[in-house]
Amino acid sequence: MERHVLGLSGGRDSAALAVLMRQKLPDLKLDYFFTDTGKELPEVYEFLGRLEGFLGTPILRLNPDRDFDFWLREYNSFLPSPRTRWCTRQLKLRPFERWIRPELDAGTTIYSYVAIRADESHREGLTATHPNLRVVMPLRERGIDKRGVIELLEAAGLGLPDYYRWRSRSGCTFCFFQQKIEWVNLMREHPDAFEEAKRYEKTALEHGSPFTWSDRESLEQLGQPERIAQIETEHARRVERLRARQRPNALRPDGSGGEEMLDDEGGGCLVCHK
Ligand code: SF4
Repeated sequence: MERHVLGLSGGRDSAALAVLMRQKLPDLKLDYFFTDTGKELPEVYEFLGRLEGFLGTPILRLNPDRDFDFWLREYNSFLPSPRTRWCTRQLKLRPFERWIRPELDAGTTIYSYVAIRADESHREGLTATHPNLRVVMPLRERGIDKRGVIELLEAAGLGLPDYYRWRSRSGCTFCFFQQKIEWVNLMREHPDAFEEAKRYEKTALEHGSPFTWSDRESLEQLGQPERIAQIETEHARRVERLRARQRPNALRPDGSGGEEMLDDEGGGCLVCHK
């Protein structure tokens, strides 16, 4: 017995992978899934809906048995961070394992399709954690890079998720991998989510957590008008540098490409953001 599964993050690369698989192997029975942390951006759900329309099949939602608030209490109100990523483990990986584990143990070979691009050779894919689990990376195998991913989505009529206007990654509203400018953007696009993140942070700091969501400052500090102005100036300078270098993929010929301006290189979470 064998089964084929493809995890969608609500991001660009995994969506492009789904498009590619549908186009190249239309007869392959592929189960699409999305592990929902319960703290996702509304734009993620909207994009998944668009993708379901293209694929003509529902995307299975895998919900964790315990939510973010439960795990936060378990971890003594310490916020997750790039080095202590309990959120990914508990809210993304566990539900996936719970879903496929019985079949793996029963001897089914499960092929998991993972969206690692060809221009990400420095990044490792998900490691197979079970002898019957096989990890497949079709984007990398076919030499598809970031530009190729965008082309696939545009040609399919899907375009990019709307949050790329102001943020470079999918994932939780309060994801600590986001850049300072993205926190500022979150404050404007989803003020309720920003306020919620602030509340989590306040509780965490009161419980002695060494972590703030954003490096070396609280959201209270980051949200002050002078600090926002400083962050915006720094971001504008960075955009100028990118323009000057004319880095491949930095801008489209028509000057658009806000998602590239934010640049999602470096860091990030393979499970959450692809
Ligand atoms: S998106 Fe960010 S905060 Fe959410 S589970 Fe992934 S790493 Fe954690």
